[in-house]
Amino acid sequence: MKRRQEARREPDTTIITAHDEEIVCASCGFDLDESELSASKCSDCGQPLELKKSISIEATSVPIYGDS
Ligand SMILES: [Zn+2]
Repeated sequence: MKRRQEARREPDTTIITAHDEEIVCASCGFDLDESELSASKCSDCGQPLELKKSISIEATSVPIYGDS
């Protein structure tokens, strides 16, 4: 699955750039649904589920100034 993370600023002023996270099974690369992330086994290959997360950062990111 792909999960969208919006740019934000953490309370400790760390700035998180907007990015997409893609979460798949580490064993077979099966694209997991959100409901499968907490499963103990991969529904595709049957191995104990380990998540592999890849992150793609947007090319166009908007700096965050000020607060909302
Ligand atoms: Zn798998």
